[in-house]
Amino acid sequence: MFKTINFQKYSSIKIGGSHDVLMIDKIGDYKDYQIIGDANNLLVSPRPKPMAKLGDSFKYIKQDGDFLTVGGAISSGKLNTYAKNHDIGGFEFMAALPGCVGGLVAMNAGLKQFEIFDIIHKVNIDGQVLDKNDIIHDYRYTDISAVIYEVVFGTTKGYDIDKTAMFKAMRANQPTTPSAGSCFKNPASYSAGYLIEQVGLKGFRIGGMAYSQIHANFLVNMGGGVYHDAIELIKMAQQKVKEQFDIKLELEIQII
Ligand SMILES: Cc1cc2nc3c(=O)[nH]c(=O)nc-3n(C[C@H](O)[C@H](O)[C@H](O)COP(=O)(O)OP(=O)(O)OC[C@H]3O[C@@H](n4cnc5c(N)ncnc54)[C@H](O)[C@@H]3O)c2cc1C
Repeated sequence: MFKTINFQKYSSIKIGGSHDVLMIDKIGDYKDYQIIGDANNLLVSPRPKPMAKLGDSFKYIKQDGDFLTVGGAISSGKLNTYAKNHDIGGFEFMAALPGCVGGLVAMNAGLKQFEIFDIIHKVNIDGQVLDKNDIIHDYRYTDISAVIYEVVFGTTKGYDIDKTAMFKAMRANQPTTPSAGSCFKNPASYSAGYLIEQVGLKGFRIGGMAYSQIHANFLVNMGGGVYHDAIELIKMAQQKVKEQFDIKLELEIQII
């Protein structure tokens, strides 16, 4: 079954056209599709590859002793609420991290020193259950290129409400204007935001897109921003940072 999704409304950066997206309801062969989650990290081009997304049959949370088995389509917000209601620890950072479980795992998403791989036990990728140690992962990186259907998390007792408040407070210096989160990964030496600021692009705008005045590593849609504005700004920052610092800025945003 296909569902028409208007990415200008659906994606967090509010860019993209309307496309028919295959809704996955069972494990199968989806190699010809670009898998998407809740589109919080995506920049959808005018001509994207055919897309597929986990449907409602992958929206479940099951508790079995010290483990939580979660369908890949469950949102971070739902998982956080479940953990809170059942007094389970380790999921507090989900309160401030938008996405669905499949997307969060594929990106090894995280906040500061916390990342989702810290709490993963096993992952069902393409119908095969893999131990987390068999999946190559690093800062905002995994080698997963197939569909994540289900994730088994290890749990600890006791949801820590103070941690939730701490994670939410970390967002205080970030813009609320539509974005896809951090535009670039932080290089080892300097933060991407610092580098963008140093090359004079903080607040710089092309069309409806700009590097945020509040946090330079957020490429924000000020209203009416389009794909080509975003790409021009991305190339500009990469070129200037390469010239002035000899550092290659690597995209965290996924372009489809
Ligand atoms: C305001 C804001 C703040 C953010 N802050 C942070 C932050 O602090 N830290 C951080 O890490 N991220 C942050 N992000 C980015 C985003 O939250 C993460 O990248 C998240 O993992 C995206 O999940 P998603 O479901 O929206 O995935 P999408 O954006 O839809 O997809 C992201 C990637 O995941 C893949 N993917 C999605 N679902 C599956 C699946 N089932 N199987 C296989 N691959 C899949 C896609 O192919 C794509 O490569 C932020 C985003 C926003 C808008």
